[in-house]
Amino acid sequence: MIDHLKVPKGMAQSAIERARKLGMVDNSFSIQTDAEYVLIPLIAGTAPFMEYPTVKAQGRPSRRKYQPLDTHGAFDVIGHIAITKIRNREKAESLAQSLIKANKSISTVYLDTGIWGEYRIRNLELLAGTDNPVAMYRENSVVMALDVRKVYFSPRLATERMLVSKDVRDGEEVLDMFAGIGPFSLNIARWHRCTVHAIDSNPDAIYYMQQSIELNRLNGKVIPHNADVEAALYQLNGFHRIIMNLPHDSFRYLDVALQHLHPGGTLYYYEMLDIKTLEERMEELRSRNLDLLQKRVVHGYSSRESMFALWLRKP
Ligand code: SAM
Repeated sequence: MIDHLKVPKGMAQSAIERARKLGMVDNSFSIQTDAEYVLIPLIAGTAPFMEYPTVKAQGRPSRRKYQPLDTHGAFDVIGHIAITKIRNREKAESLAQSLIKANKSISTVYLDTGIWGEYRIRNLELLAGTDNPVAMYRENSVVMALDVRKVYFSPRLATERMLVSKDVRDGEEVLDMFAGIGPFSLNIARWHRCTVHAIDSNPDAIYYMQQSIELNRLNGKVIPHNADVEAALYQLNGFHRIIMNLPHDSFRYLDVALQHLHPGGTLYYYEMLDIKTLEERMEELRSRNLDLLQKRVVHGYSSRESMFALWLRKP
């Protein structure tokens, strides 16, 4: 028996789309229907961030050939650029050609062969179109400039950034510890009269963050810091909210983050976890007396791991 989201038939289409976007759907099982409801199979251990109830039901193995989660979305679009991770070269090239033909707005298609190094930069090979890695990208009414070859960026976090931004209040001091080009910081400062300190060790990320600060009419202030996070934090005091988006290494920095969080403050913690490591992590968080506000999957990562959002309050 596995968890399924139970959705009235009339709402099924939009619920499936949202659940897929949030990385909650277990694609190795089929979606089931009866006269009134649709049952959407969920990745085990994920607390659904949706208004529908969860029920236990026998999972029906999907007849479709198993597809690893990291290629499931087929491609991401960042401005005029499409990026695919499809490993089969022939399929990737054919997808690239059809994307260019079918979408007037896409003029560059890259193959992502992996992310490397401290700056989390993608290895990109041109599959079709012109080799132009500098894009203008818009999400939640925020415009960002970036070079996809020089900085980390994922459009799959757009919903998460909107949710965090909605949680912030005017007048607060916010810390974005691994800010990249600053999409969390910009989403927050776009709507709130608050100050966001955005730290990243990659000088190119800070360059594009500065460009994006100028491109947007922000209500608040984003202060970029090009430094290692621990060095930058020597100069900074307490915060009402801290964002930790370094999903393969966040835990290393948890204690230093907590030292800079005000009592009652909120920590937005992201990490790639499987069922076993999620349990271990929850234990570590409990031992630090943190209150769990939310636990959910942001998106799938591999056949076993997903990126989890853990929203925590310091007592
Ligand atoms: N939060 C960003 C977003 O939503 O697009 C990007 C986060 S990316 C996963 C992690 C970022 O952390 C990279 O831009 C990398 O350069 C930066 N980084 C890694 N280690 C760091 C460190 N010790 N100090 C400061 N920045 C670091």
